[in-house]
Amino acid sequence: MNGAAHGIRPYLSYVYAYPHKTSYRPLPDRPALRELWTGEGRDALSLYLHIPFCEVRCGFCNLFTRIGAPGELTTRYLDALERQAVAVRDALGDEDPVRFAAAAFGGGTPTFLTAGELERLCDIAEKRMGADLRAVPLSVETSPATATADRLAVLAERGTTRLSIGVQSFVDEEARAAVRPQRRADVEAALGRIRETGVPVLNIDLIYGIDGQTEATWRHSLDAALAWHPEELYLYPLYVRPLTGLGRQDDAGGDAAWDEQRLRLYRQGRDHLLSHGYEQVSMRMFRRPGGQGTAPRGPDDHACQTDGMIGLGCGARSYTSGLHYSFDYAVDMRRIRTIIDDYTETADFTRAEVGRRIDGGEARRRHLLQSLLQAQGLEVAAYRDRFGGTPAEDFPDELAAFAGRGWLEESGGLLRLTPEGLAYSDALGPELFSPAVRDAMAAYEPK
Ligand code: SF4
Repeated sequence: MNGAAHGIRPYLSYVYAYPHKTSYRPLPDRPALRELWTGEGRDALSLYLHIPFCEVRCGFCNLFTRIGAPGELTTRYLDALERQAVAVRDALGDEDPVRFAAAAFGGGTPTFLTAGELERLCDIAEKRMGADLRAVPLSVETSPATATADRLAVLAERGTTRLSIGVQSFVDEEARAAVRPQRRADVEAALGRIRETGVPVLNIDLIYGIDGQTEATWRHSLDAALAWHPEELYLYPLYVRPLTGLGRQDDAGGDAAWDEQRLRLYRQGRDHLLSHGYEQVSMRMFRRPGGQGTAPRGPDDHACQTDGMIGLGCGARSYTSGLHYSFDYAVDMRRIRTIIDDYTETADFTRAEVGRRIDGGEARRRHLLQSLLQAQGLEVAAYRDRFGGTPAEDFPDELAAFAGRGWLEESGGLLRLTPEGLAYSDALGPELFSPAVRDAMAAYEPK
């Protein structure tokens, strides 16, 4: 049965991390990082460096990023990043070995930085944090305009294993409609430069649900992407969000016809990629079997629900088992600029400022959410090993509701969404939020 028959809207929220940052609050006790990390596993950490600069602000984007970097802002930002890295590495201590198992540079657009600045970024990860970038998967996000040969060469030489490029559409008019003007020829040239680096994993991001996009133009973009034989493809539904460029132009959020269009294009895209031999990893992610798609996909898709994460930069999150923390958060441009400026002037990085405590119940929810929204599903035995009970004992109402809609099945020790359930990932995810997180998110005022 489809979602419309259940009265459920398919595109409520992209749940890439739980709890969402809008549920974070200033931490009155400003806990010291050294205490937060005492007793935490630190032999398979994930490292994320956030670069909050872009050449343009795409109309659909609500990431923490600003347009351009006047004066010496990137230098001041890297200076702050280095100070933060020194403080955080010191807080991790040397009593137990510290090892990073994966690294990612995200944004914003990390390749907004010049080749020399990217060298410095890698140095911060290696020399200040102690990550061995050439020995672990390293994922870096880029864009058509900033994927220049010299920058890509630095990244390849320093050990990048995955380059992810946001193309969104190979149709110029659609790119313009999504408020991201670009020319197809420039996109193709950037893809050529990426392939020339020999970096093993290429990921291409595409978007469906753009104004004027049809089955034919969507197919055109899918085929143009497939021509590059990418190891990974992400298909994103377009969201119109408050305070983003499109949100200001046209508030079409409640449009049932738009939901239908996106669902139709989702199914078309999914089926097209499956027929080309790709496997579906989640609602958005598809992977070419045999491709070297082993690199991590960045912190927002951190595959392991248990390992800790260190995020550096003003929009990055860090996770210990008991606390998720970050800096202040905003979507509005002016506020973002202020937060970045404040970050570059910060001298003391030894404390967590903004965050949310994770108790046992929230840890269970996080594990459930992050496993169930993957196509391979949740391993019931692994859940029981970690938490004692089973998901059915801990979340009887939620799981019964999903099963009642025909969207959940259990077989071979796996709890898995059906294809229709997976199509409704962005509706099911929010249903698994705890009442406390839901309340905190509702009380958050967009800024
Ligand atoms: S979508 Fe990517 S390139 Fe566009 S504004 Fe957002 S972070 Fe920058």
